[in-house]
Amino acid sequence: MSEVRAIGILGGGQLGRMLSVAASRLGLRCHIYEPGAAPAGDVAWRVTTAPYEDTDALRAFADSVDVITYEFENVPTAALDLLESIRPIRPNRRALAVSQDRLTEKTFLNGIGLATAPFADVPTQADLDAAVAAIGRPAILKTRRMGYDGKGQVRISDGPAEWTGAPSVLEGFVDFSAEISVIVARGADGQVAAFDPGLNVHCDGILRTTTVPCGLPAKIVTDAVLIAGRIANALEYVGVLGVELFVTPAGLIVNEIAPRVHNSGHWTQGGCAVDQFEQHIRAVAGLPLGDGRRYADVVMENLIGDDLDRVPDLLKTPNVQVHLYGKGAPRPGRKMGHVNRIAR
Ligand code: AMP
Repeated sequence: MSEVRAIGILGGGQLGRMLSVAASRLGLRCHIYEPGAAPAGDVAWRVTTAPYEDTDALRAFADSVDVITYEFENVPTAALDLLESIRPIRPNRRALAVSQDRLTEKTFLNGIGLATAPFADVPTQADLDAAVAAIGRPAILKTRRMGYDGKGQVRISDGPAEWTGAPSVLEGFVDFSAEISVIVARGADGQVAAFDPGLNVHCDGILRTTTVPCGLPAKIVTDAVLIAGRIANALEYVGVLGVELFVTPAGLIVNEIAPRVHNSGHWTQGGCAVDQFEQHIRAVAGLPLGDGRRYADVVMENLIGDDLDRVPDLLKTPNVQVHLYGKGAPRPGRKMGHVNRIAR
């Protein structure tokens, strides 16, 4: 058995909450570090509420655990440097650095032979003008850092292309037929296990549903899994990694990677003996991975904002697993929970 007894988690949102529940089933304790409100705190062993600049709090947090992981990728570098001097961080810093910055991410992906949308670094308005001329329209201007759920993105169609002032990349528009994602895990010993790719539908830039099986030809499914494995191996990754892909007539294009459990992997709670949360805990704790096999067809639907009003009916619906995050008041666009409709 592993020597790990306590896991530190940076970030206290719903992903940290579901990681903590999974860890507790394996007899492990989670300590959450979160500057703001922490839905994960309700179910964790300990919670530290402090800013990422509080070095005393960071030190005490690291001292109390055996290994540190994270549920969101924008933890300040100085905090990570301090924490890493005390305990190992899994997934490793390289995985974080690559996925924190869209320019570094795309450069890395191309470097290991994977296709991305055509892109250009646009640090100034002049670079944006040159990039639009080279890549063509439509295109999407994305901030290099801190973008999620479609935030920090501007579509450039016919009008003038205005630089936002933030370091950004310009991406060519990909005419995809579907969006899929693969949730892959890599253990401390290099063992790799992938879950079946899910078909994702977004609404206003936010994930709405994930469906497994994804209904795509076997070759695409296999290619997607191989791409995810290649990324995990190249990063010497330990933990669960989400890989978002566009399906195009010319093959698969990697949109982005997330060095953590991923919203599009929530279906595994209803479809697999070992779900993505337990898989991540197993990996970072140095335990053997589950095999990732799927035993049911599942449609995961996010409950966003007022969708919460549907919960009484959903609770009465057969074969529906309801997961609520224990957050405060619903707001438009706020993820309040999700459901897994299990078909077999
Ligand atoms: P992202 O935050 O990069 O995952 O983008 C959010 C969503 O915007 C994606 O899930 C796609 O639906 C869409 N999108 C992002 N980049 C592109 C692109 N280069 N071409 C077409 N659609 C895109």
